[in-house]
Amino acid sequence: MTVFEIIKISGNVKKLLALSLGVCLISICCALYELPDDKFHIYFFDVGQGDSILIKTPQNHKILIDGGPRDFVLERLGEVMPFLDKEIDFVVLTHTHADHLEGLVEVLKRFEVKAVLITGASSSDPTYKEFLKTISEKNIPIYFAERKNDFVFGEVFFDVLYPFKSVIGENFENINNSSIGMNIMFEDIQILTLGDLERDKEAELLKRPLPHSVNIYKASHHGSKTSSSIDFLKKISPKEVVIQVGEGNKFKHPSPETIRNLHRANVEKIYRNDIEGTVKFVF
Ligand SMILES: [Zn+2]
Repeated sequence: MTVFEIIKISGNVKKLLALSLGVCLISICCALYELPDDKFHIYFFDVGQGDSILIKTPQNHKILIDGGPRDFVLERLGEVMPFLDKEIDFVVLTHTHADHLEGLVEVLKRFEVKAVLITGASSSDPTYKEFLKTISEKNIPIYFAERKNDFVFGEVFFDVLYPFKSVIGENFENINNSSIGMNIMFEDIQILTLGDLERDKEAELLKRPLPHSVNIYKASHHGSKTSSSIDFLKKISPKEVVIQVGEGNKFKHPSPETIRNLHRANVEKIYRNDIEGTVKFVF
């Protein structure tokens, strides 16, 4: 083999290497996030002890409900959104507790958020103040949740069930009971999420029209026994339930009482973030 041939071969090998590296990079990129596919995706992110739910509509709207504690949500978003896609159409903060709020502050800073939904209930929490300040600095439009205000993104409908009326400026003794509750509908699929709403508010919800035979119910308040009463569960009769709960959490969520109630209400499957990690459904 002449020197020339060696150079030629090594040139071809380089080209081949470059080509296979390119193929590798493309397949790694595809594996790292999911391309839009005209389907409805919902991710119950594993953010430790807290709530964070991402919805990708068939038209590729992205709606983020709560951001969990600290900034774990950033890594979760990076796993399902393309690196260069920094747009989130709608951010919902159900209530101002850290396990729902903290990650959203980081999301507001790093993503181009197009609108935010809050209750406007009173809170002196410094993280909440930072959240509002970031919204104001970035001129993000704010919507306030109440039952008569609903939201539509393409074929996906967000039916606000709670608060019943505007609670702007209201002081809640129990902040869990200020949580935004929504029935998310796509075709014949219904997904019910009520933040950390507790039993006394479930009793009030039972007096009004409620969805029944819901496909997915996100267990309120991380499966605590303060929520998911048997009467409420029997009314909504969920097929599958997701419990957003952190491994070995100090609250010992979910409560055995809630798990018993879920079985009594004939729930077919219970998913838990502490066991399964992020839980994803595609319709
Ligand atoms: Zn919570």
